[in-house]
Amino acid sequence: MSFFIDSTIKDVGPWMEAFRVRDPAIKIYREGDKVPLDQITTAVVWNHRPGLFLKFPNLKLIASMGAGVDHILSDPSIPSSVIITRIVSDTLSGPMSNFCIGAVLYHQRQFDKYLSDKVQKIWHQELNPELGMNIGIMGLGALGMDLANKLNSLGFNVFGYSKSKKEIPDVVSFTSDQLQDFLNEINVLVVMLPATPETKAILSKPLFAQMKRGTYLINVARGHHQVDQDIIDAIEDGQLSGAFLDVFPKEPLSADSPLWAHPKVMITPHIAVVTKIEAAVPQIISAHYRVLEGELPEIVVDKLKGY
Ligand code: NDP
Repeated sequence: MSFFIDSTIKDVGPWMEAFRVRDPAIKIYREGDKVPLDQITTAVVWNHRPGLFLKFPNLKLIASMGAGVDHILSDPSIPSSVIITRIVSDTLSGPMSNFCIGAVLYHQRQFDKYLSDKVQKIWHQELNPELGMNIGIMGLGALGMDLANKLNSLGFNVFGYSKSKKEIPDVVSFTSDQLQDFLNEINVLVVMLPATPETKAILSKPLFAQMKRGTYLINVARGHHQVDQDIIDAIEDGQLSGAFLDVFPKEPLSADSPLWAHPKVMITPHIAVVTKIEAAVPQIISAHYRVLEGELPEIVVDKLKGY
């Protein structure tokens, strides 16, 4: 009934400390420790070492240290009986929505134009300072729902796209067999889809060709979704009016990527939201005890759906 925590990217030290403070009864181990392998029932991971789960014969729960689970499901060695959970919290959805609203306003109020004007000392006033916007959110899950409601309350026209139909007041919801109808309505696309085989490279030439000319793209989900060169080509020929990108297929974005210097591309280094340890730890502990008692955690990842 112990934890093993592993990440090849995150510093697990502060997580171990937070688990110990929150529940001193839980023993927690990391790479390099002398680990009682048969006592590990919960693995807490973010980009773990391959083959990790096979070491623990009594593993019952794998907990993602964030919202995404693509880093877990890409491991073919997950025992079928093991439950996977992930973080759903308003400490994720709140900052994520704020970030997206910032990106929407950056485009709506044409701050890229004024940044460029400032560098050139140009005083030029747009007579219509607010661009008209119909905002489409691809992925109406924990994050997309929060953003839809908040954009709606700010007075934007909001459209959603997800596998199943959603009922959100004043938000028009489309399902995955209505992609063209969804794209016909919008001129700003915010992507909040999970990384699955179905969503790989979805932000590429065929999708852009289906969009209204001049649609603005905001991707805060995963670089897995996007083909950088297709984004540049679509901006160059006017199919996209620009892009606000927080994620990239290869991170960090290479210094020689043409995205850096493109005047119509805004780049942030995968910081739309960062998991708060103090919010994640109690959720993982609660999931751990529920699973030990034979119950399901509050958030269960559907391994077949991939999110
Ligand atoms: P959820 O699992 O709650 O929601 C996913 C949504 O996407 C659901 O509405 C689902 O539809 C929809 N969906 C999935 N596949 C498809 C598809 N093929 N076509 C149409 N709709 C689809 O995830 P979250 O909202 O919590 O998070 C979304 C993603 O955001 C995460 O998976 C993660 O990759 C990313 N993320 C990125 C962060 C960053 O800093 N860049 C931070 C946090 C998350 P349905 O509801 O019908 O199942």
